[in-house]
Amino acid sequence: MAWFKKEKTPKAAPARERKITIPEGLWVKCDNCKEIVYKKEVARNANVCPKCNYHFRIAALPAGLGKGVYVGGVVEGGNTWATSADISLDDLRYSFAGLLGADTIAGPVFFAYAVGESGSTKLYLTVGRTF
Ligand SMILES: [Zn+2]
Repeated sequence: MAWFKKEKTPKAAPARERKITIPEGLWVKCDNCKEIVYKKEVARNANVCPKCNYHFRIAALPAGLGKGVYVGGVVEGGNTWATSADISLDDLRYSFAGLLGADTIAGPVFFAYAVGESGSTKLYLTVGRTF
């Protein structure tokens, strides 16, 4: 009688793993945080990365004019005070702006529409970098 007798037959090699195919265009890689995010989730989030708030471009400019076109928004709060002792968060005045921007060969170009707390509105056009 042998001490080490093979009583079971060896298991068959596992079947080849199924190759998972992911349809093209469902996922997008964030240019900022490099995360792979679901494209529909980015679209639902106004073309903003849900992981890092990076704004994806919404369109590409023609070759030679620049890179991309972006859409975004700005919320601002501020005021002016005569002395630092007068500064109070209760005195903040707010404004909101929606903007369309492009990364052009002349630098960033932004066109914005802003609404102040009193209902006043302004249009902004910015070309190039601000210093
Ligand atoms: Zn990101």
